[in-house]
Amino acid sequence: MATKYAQTGVQDRLDADIAAKSRDSVEELLIEEPIVGVRFGTEAAVSRRREHLFYAMVKQGGAIAAVVYIFFFPTGWIEWTGFAFFYVLNILGMSIGYHRYFTHNAFETSKPMRYFFAALAQFGVYGSLWRWVADHRRHHAMSDKPGDIHSPYYDGHGRALEGREGLKHAHLGWAYDDCMTDMEVYGKGVVDDPAIVWAHKTRYFWLFVSLLVLPALWGLAFGGLEAIIGTVMVAGFLRLALALHAIAAVNSFGHKFGRQRFKGRVSGARNNWFIALLSLGEGWHNNHHEHPRAANAGMAWYEIDMTSWVIRAMEAVGLVWNVRWAKLDDTPEKA
Ligand SMILES: [Zn+2]
Ligand SMILES: [Zn+2]
Repeated sequence: MATKYAQTGVQDRLDADIAAKSRDSVEELLIEEPIVGVRFGTEAAVSRRREHLFYAMVKQGGAIAAVVYIFFFPTGWIEWTGFAFFYVLNILGMSIGYHRYFTHNAFETSKPMRYFFAALAQFGVYGSLWRWVADHRRHHAMSDKPGDIHSPYYDGHGRALEGREGLKHAHLGWAYDDCMTDMEVYGKGVVDDPAIVWAHKTRYFWLFVSLLVLPALWGLAFGGLEAIIGTVMVAGFLRLALALHAIAAVNSFGHKFGRQRFKGRVSGARNNWFIALLSLGEGWHNNHHEHPRAANAGMAWYEIDMTSWVIRAMEAVGLVWNVRWAKLDDTPEKA
């Protein structure tokens, strides 16, 4: 059995696991059969880990620097309106760009708008759109089962996780493991899509625009040269970090804490009003797993889903069409 893993590089990791955890035998760790749609120990996993380490340095490191900056230098309406404006754009890049449009095809649009959404997605800086679409298809296909990319209940190798370990893995830890989505299984229509490939190739340019260029221009326009550094700190670095955690929380806390309207029929996904507020609607995640192709995640009037408002406005003016709207059926609510 070990030879099968030796070829993939997973054996090294297993050896390290054994040394670290004093496990009794290799067999105890080799619990998983190969999971369909997942490739273990590939070069791509190493490059993804490097990429996400870079994002972590920029976002978490930058956020710490921003907090120190705010402590020593006064900030005001210019920096914080910039924060709010770019935070909304950032989250919409995820909710509309990566998620509801490119992954779930919740609506149709023109070619220029398709490229606009691709750029907006990468403006949100959640990694390659090319990979994200395939990863998220896997999340829905295997939700909270072995094979899910980011479940708080199983790691990438299908081993059960509990408590904080599970939350850490689902929040951001998954990006650092050695389990990659097999693009041959989940990448159909993605690997050769010109807009998605373009977004993937230009993603560092959009990071630069998102983090530095537009916040600097905001500061310059409203406060002059002396407002540039503060606006980049608050509306660039700090905003990117908070927008990252708001979305990561959907995958971690949003699969453990909250209400399940569609209990039993979907994964561990929950409706969580607090995450929904921070993520502009993505936190109505139990609804989303039940109606994944819908442009709305909020379904009841009290489930505020600002992303769906933006899509509705774009539909009204003809920028998008054939929008799929999910309606609340008469399924009884369950706690
Ligand atoms: Zn989910
Ligand atoms: Zn989804």
